[in-house]
Amino acid sequence: MSVKINENYLLLKSSYIFAEINQRVNKFQEENPETEIIRMGIGDVTRPLPKAVIKAFQKAVDEMGHSETFMGYGPEQGYSFLINKIIENDFKSRGIDLSEDEVFISDGAKCDTGNIQEIFGLDNVIAVTDPVYPVYVETNVMAGRTGPMGDEGKYEKLVYLPCTAENDFVPALPSEDVDIIYLCFPNNPTGTTLTKEQLTTWVNYARENKSIILFDAAYESYITEDDIPHSIYEIDGAKEVAIEFRSFSKNAGFTGTRCAYTVVPKEVMAYDLEDNAQAVNPLWNRRQTTKFNGVSYPIQKAAAAVYSEEGQKEIKESIDYYMQNAAIIRESLVEIGLEIYGGVNSPYIWVKTPEGIDSWAFFDLLLTEANVVGTPGVGFGPSGEGYFRITAFNTLENTKKAMERISKLSF
Ligand SMILES: *Cc1c(COP(=O)(O)O)cnc(C)c1O
Repeated sequence: MSVKINENYLLLKSSYIFAEINQRVNKFQEENPETEIIRMGIGDVTRPLPKAVIKAFQKAVDEMGHSETFMGYGPEQGYSFLINKIIENDFKSRGIDLSEDEVFISDGAKCDTGNIQEIFGLDNVIAVTDPVYPVYVETNVMAGRTGPMGDEGKYEKLVYLPCTAENDFVPALPSEDVDIIYLCFPNNPTGTTLTKEQLTTWVNYARENKSIILFDAAYESYITEDDIPHSIYEIDGAKEVAIEFRSFSKNAGFTGTRCAYTVVPKEVMAYDLEDNAQAVNPLWNRRQTTKFNGVSYPIQKAAAAVYSEEGQKEIKESIDYYMQNAAIIRESLVEIGLEIYGGVNSPYIWVKTPEGIDSWAFFDLLLTEANVVGTPGVGFGPSGEGYFRITAFNTLENTKKAMERISKLSF
């Protein structure tokens, strides 16, 4: 006998896209040591934490150093002071009522979107949009729900919902029954959104089919247009079928600080083998209290400061800054005749690569001819082939410089 590994891990595709990108960039840099490369591929913010956040963070750290104000283990679900601010500002303001025990604070939407599948059975049919944030797919591979990857770059048992220019990046309802649907809007990587009406179609589907929607709203704060839902709970009936993930990473610069939250309404049901409805909220609560000991007190204090008047003003400035970059990228690429999407309600611009140039060829072309790095769309799924992602997370100066360089190319 010998120790056995989790065989599912062997089904993961080995070549991770960002590793391949780094390898190509490093090789080019070695061969061209003088060249200054501008990176527009990474989905990470660049602006520092707001001052209001830093102030609250520092004050809370000081509190930890005095016995009168020291905090030990906190509630696994998060402190009320933060949960109540979230409910008040992010939901009540949009007419959505939530109770305190429906909001779970965590150290990231990546972990939450990755961990949530644990509370659902292994026989569920999973649907993902294509292209997709890889976390949804790979955590289901690890759990054993997907089977191996077939020739087309698709896991055999996953249902892929193509989102391309042909369907305006609006996923069509699946032709087979699906149980769990991952939706991320505004979308990473395409930067596109769903209108209220389009999202309603999905909520109705989930209600009719006893399915659950896992709704990732990490880019909610980048929405600028009116008819775009900020929360899935703006849609009638969504509280019965949707779990929503939010994060302080992209709106307030918490990518390195770590704070997020997940909303699990008490009405959301999944079914046992006798087809009895079971509430999902207590299961997630059980999962979190067993495996997680909460986010640190100073970080929750820092996150609460995002909702202060000063904090709101500062995060708006940063978002406006990134969105100005996005507008510059959009204008520059349209000017040279490229077909582009996104960048209006999100910091991502999704570029259709010119005729006859695939995602990786376009990557190599931009790297060698303009010394600009982006992300090949095919890395996010087979329907990403023929597309390319450029992010607005950069300095204004570098964004302009990169666009000047790209503008000299002709396609
Ligand atoms: C960045 C991002 C998140 C946020 O993840 P954190 O773990 O909270 O930093 C979640 N979902 C998507 C699609 C993202 O791009």
